[in-house]
Amino acid sequence: MTDNKTHLLRQLPKVDDCILELVSAPDISAPIAILKQVVVDMIQREREKILHSKGDVPDLSREQWRASFISEIEKKLQPNLRRVFNGTGVVIHTNLGRSILSQKTTDSLARAGGFYSNLEFDLDTGKRGSRYSLVERIICDLTGAEAALVVNNNAAAVLIALDTLAKGKEVIVSRGQLVEIGGSFRIPDVMEKSGAFLREVGATNRTHLSDYKKAITENCAMLLRVHTSNFRIIGFTSEVSAEEMVILAKERGLITMEDLGSGSLVDLSKYGFPKEPTVQEIVKAGVDVITFSGDKLLGGPQAGIIVGNKETISQIKKNPLNRALRIDKFTLAALESVLTEYYDIDKALKTIPTLNMLTVPASEIKKRTQRVFRRINKKIQQYTEIKIVQIDSRVGGGALPEFNIPSWAIELAPRFIRVSKLEKLLRELATPVIGRIESDRFLLDMRTIQEREIAEFSSLLIDFFNKVGTRD
Ligand SMILES: *Cc1c(COP(=O)(O)O)cnc(C)c1O
Repeated sequence: MTDNKTHLLRQLPKVDDCILELVSAPDISAPIAILKQVVVDMIQREREKILHSKGDVPDLSREQWRASFISEIEKKLQPNLRRVFNGTGVVIHTNLGRSILSQKTTDSLARAGGFYSNLEFDLDTGKRGSRYSLVERIICDLTGAEAALVVNNNAAAVLIALDTLAKGKEVIVSRGQLVEIGGSFRIPDVMEKSGAFLREVGATNRTHLSDYKKAITENCAMLLRVHTSNFRIIGFTSEVSAEEMVILAKERGLITMEDLGSGSLVDLSKYGFPKEPTVQEIVKAGVDVITFSGDKLLGGPQAGIIVGNKETISQIKKNPLNRALRIDKFTLAALESVLTEYYDIDKALKTIPTLNMLTVPASEIKKRTQRVFRRINKKIQQYTEIKIVQIDSRVGGGALPEFNIPSWAIELAPRFIRVSKLEKLLRELATPVIGRIESDRFLLDMRTIQEREIAEFSSLLIDFFNKVGTRD
């Protein structure tokens, strides 16, 4: 080992001294276990750096060590699940938590968590009640279905429905609907797990009623339609409608099921979106079992909602898997709160954040963008070019792929740091800001920044640029 390395290693601070100093510092209040972990890890890392170097690692001053300890301790004390600012313009962003909830709904979550509740207690009889009965009535009201059940998520809904109704039997699905959703949810794989056998029919682009007819055997239990969610087959295409399928299934004594994926309760085509079947329409078509997500277009908590006819749903309710896939009181509280909003659709479009973000006109977003611009422009323009630009937002969550929603964004072109560095630094903030880079510009789409976030969002950007604006 070179003399220089030996010298550097000797200069490293002593673990116990550092801990002692940090413990008695008035501005640090972290559990001693965390202090110790940080000090030991950081000194060890520095030791390895010296050992693997050519002896040219700069000697750190006491002040520099202290500052590094403190910043590392702060990082350790931050929760791992953190709030972020979503500047991506993807409304139902699966990686950023899908649907967000209104203040009223999050209040109901806090109530369910902080106090006792009648989760499984019937207040009329004083006897044990069912947690599901708390939302079943309202789901039936809104969808027109006879019965309903809620499980952990839509993947679970599909699993329990197939396990109950088609285990060891054949289920016929069109080849054009064998979808893979992000996070490795594949219809064929879920079927295999449920013990149902997949019988693919038709071609990728076209499936006819006669294809289903030909495939029906003694051992067939179900005709299944799956919403293609995140992809589109365009051109020379044809799929069998829910209505046609129901007629065929009735003739042959089979069950019909539809995995709707997003499952909207509102016809969004009235607001300029492509026409998608609503849950109500599929119920009306007579499909026996319909499943959809709680946190996609519905705008609620993560959940898998199953609706259908009384007899079929009651069979699913009795499946022991139901206990394993059951929802907790937080989901119930949030779901009831969100569903209640749907009794008044016009109001729901304003109060349910997902619906509001999807339907708020571009002119409103432009005003919001201008408000943010006015707050930050003068204070950060020395560090970055800043402009208001027109862009497109996306629905996300595997719903309505390829469909663009006209929107507005703050565009940043930093003067002293690279745009990739800007993206990284904003992502590493205590409250990260997530945007996207396009042609060497950083874009923050204001569709997914809520009105109530604007003040905080603006000050955060100002503070950020004033701290790191000229550092590369
Ligand atoms: C999203 C989706 C699922 C999975 O739903 P989760 O609620 O994420 O479990 C299943 N099927 C389809 C068609 C979907 O779009």
